[in-house]
Amino acid sequence: MTIEKLQNKIIEISEKLKETEEKLNYQEELFETALKENETRFRLTFENVGAGMVLIGLEGNPTLTNEVFQKILQYSNSELSKMTFEEFTHPEDVPEELELFQKLLDNQIPFYRIEKRFIRKEGTDIWVDQSVSIARDPDTQEPLYAIAIVKDISEKKKALQDLLKSRKNLEQFAYVASHDLQEPLRTITSFTSLLQKKLTGVNEEADQYLTFITEASLRMKELINGLLDLSRINKTQKLESTNSEEVVNSVIKDLDAVIVKTNTQITTKNLPSLFTHKTQFRQLIQNLISNGIKFSKKGISPTISIDVIKKGKYWQFSITDNGIGIEDKFKEKIFVIFQRLNSRSEYEGSGIGLAHCKKIVEIHGGDIWVESKIDEGSTFYFTIPA
Ligand code: ADP
Repeated sequence: MTIEKLQNKIIEISEKLKETEEKLNYQEELFETALKENETRFRLTFENVGAGMVLIGLEGNPTLTNEVFQKILQYSNSELSKMTFEEFTHPEDVPEELELFQKLLDNQIPFYRIEKRFIRKEGTDIWVDQSVSIARDPDTQEPLYAIAIVKDISEKKKALQDLLKSRKNLEQFAYVASHDLQEPLRTITSFTSLLQKKLTGVNEEADQYLTFITEASLRMKELINGLLDLSRINKTQKLESTNSEEVVNSVIKDLDAVIVKTNTQITTKNLPSLFTHKTQFRQLIQNLISNGIKFSKKGISPTISIDVIKKGKYWQFSITDNGIGIEDKFKEKIFVIFQRLNSRSEYEGSGIGLAHCKKIVEIHGGDIWVESKIDEGSTFYFTIPA
């Protein structure tokens, strides 16, 4: 190879090198821009996620916090970075959280979510909803740090507590009122019957009036008892494993007389085993079946079908009849105590059954509603957590 050729080759190679270097530089620039963009994106998300956000080192120390998080706790980022999570978590909530955090580190769970209390700088508690997950090294899967998203739920908690308190007050009021109403009522009934004994055959008109008073007193007694029962339904009874098929069959057996008399056909499907407050669950089933029989169309034998499907985390029961149906505008009203849609001479009752059903379903954490067509029939639905 001549010197000249060699020189040309060198020039060629050095140009190629330059080209490669430029390409590399360009790629590095791209990479840096992407990195910066990523970082900006992360920062933006971190700050504007609309909740408190914190990165936690494996020792439990917050390494990075956003403004919302700092506001919730009333500490600055630098103050927080010198603390551990345990220090500002309410002592009663620490054990549960530590257990969950360990499970997370051990990869037993992908994340956890709890409602807990933080202790703010000024010393007061604040309720939060907190979700925590772990970032791991993509190659070794070793945990790097934890990420927590924290929402202030103190308002919600307070509203719930107020609601529970007012419900409790109401129950207490209903109990006391109905309990105390019984005494004067007893006096009325006993003196009415004494008076009636004296007036029988003496004054027919007065006798008739007294019969009305007795009847009304009996009805009032029924209403008071219903109110008392309603205020007594609560969660004190514990949840038991319940075979709903057995419950339904035993209710059907108890209602045998009326079923035979009205020529009612009852079919059931897919009845599961579940956890319930058993006596109350039985009452619920009994009320709904009884209503299906009671509110039948004149001259048409009642048919009732009971079916259950799984809907997410719930069992959804449906009890369908071929009865008189319910107008759309009354679908909510019928679950309110003492509310009835039909005259007592046509369909007897006191308007307590569905209020009971609603309360029973609610203490189980479920829902109850009705779908219906006038003159065609109704389906009552209720859900119970599976
Ligand atoms: P009660 O049966 O004592 O009247 P409930 O609270 O059980 O009281 O029911 C309230 C009202 O809802 C009933 O009076 C009736 O008008 C209506 N209702 C309940 N169940 C049915 C049903 N299966 N079909 C039609 N109407 C019903």
